Amino acid sequence: MLGGAIGDAMGHPTEFMSMSAIVASYGPAGVTGFELWWERDGRRFAPYTDDTQMAEIVLRALLDARETGDDLDATMRRMAEGFVAWSERPQGGHRAPGNACLSGCRALAAGAPWAEAGGETAGGCGSVMRAYPFGLVFGDDPERAELWAAEHSKLTHRDPIALAASSAMAVGIARTLRDEPVEDVLDAMVTAAGRRCSRTAAMMAQAIAEARGATSPDVTLDRLRGWAAHEAIAAAVYVVARHPTDACAAILEGANTPGDSDSIATLAGALVGARIGLSGLPFDWVRDVERSDELLALAARI
Ligand SMILES: [Mg+2]
Repeated sequence: MLGGAIGDAMGHPTEFMSMSAIVASYGPAGVTGFELWWERDGRRFAPYTDDTQMAEIVLRALLDARETGDDLDATMRRMAEGFVAWSERPQGGHRAPGNACLSGCRALAAGAPWAEAGGETAGGCGSVMRAYPFGLVFGDDPERAELWAAEHSKLTHRDPIALAASSAMAVGIARTLRDEPVEDVLDAMVTAAGRRCSRTAAMMAQAIAEARGATSPDVTLDRLRGWAAHEAIAAAVYVVARHPTDACAAILEGANTPGDSDSIATLAGALVGARIGLSGLPFDWVRDVERSDELLALAARI
């Protein structure tokens, strides 16, 4: 949870910046730590974006549903309520939410069934960016993590690339928590994606091969901008294959991209964070990310 939030906050300032603009603003190494600071109640913090706002809603819904023994349908209806409330009054204010997320929420608010609320061709990264909690909560059940994450995408994104990417992300987190070697985790993510979209699986497999073949981020992450779901999950597996246990390197590589920096860094941060745990994350990043205490308390419920 914290790895995802830190990645999101790290990539927040660079979300809509080209690499040349990043270098012009932050120097040749790009962003190397939190750069965007806000203040609330006398405390300075690095704000995250809609990725973490929505992931928090997903995680809360899953934890509450676990306590009451809700099935998939009841859990998704609970999640839909949270999404609608977020779209109308997001905790902490609006953070560049995606159009597909907002239009899915409008459909849900108007009474659409959760499995039909998302746009049929909505394939942005808005559902995969909030899918990691399925892996956190169902760490002992990767099959359920995969299925429920894919189903949850339908609240806002029904394109197969979004379903495939969401399921792959959940499987990646669940299997990482079982301490499986990174190579096995990445293979399982590709296989999971392939059950719903072969194009997504192929894009991920190519990205992993490029990471293993030392293709430069200048090439791979320039191609995989991450605005679309399959590109975002492919960019994430590329980064994780290169830095499986180095949260700093993974998060900064995700943040310093010409594409959807906050979402790529969210996915990379969540995956590497799941492997190394809280103690592996830089102390000051954990301390300074927005609502750190609340997120830690929430994570403790997992
Ligand atoms: Mg965002």
